[in-house]
Amino acid sequence: MFRPHPFSWRPGADRVRHATTQDMPRDGARFESLCGVTTTADCGEAAWLHPTCDACNAEAHRVAGVPMPLANAR
Ligand SMILES: [Zn+2]
Repeated sequence: MFRPHPFSWRPGADRVRHATTQDMPRDGARFESLCGVTTTADCGEAAWLHPTCDACNAEAHRVAGVPMPLANAR
């Protein structure tokens, strides 16, 4: 699978889309996200519509070496 950065996005059971540096968690698998939350992967169709976790998004940008868009800067 194409993976340009050392993390993957996964919707969690907490209804937020997190990023994780673990191997792509399967549906129903526990994973630890970049923001430090441990949750269960929810790969249901609607799960991909969950909002992106702000903390994971910021950390993912840092890991990728990409500046955050100004609109999202805090
Ligand atoms: Zn997160």
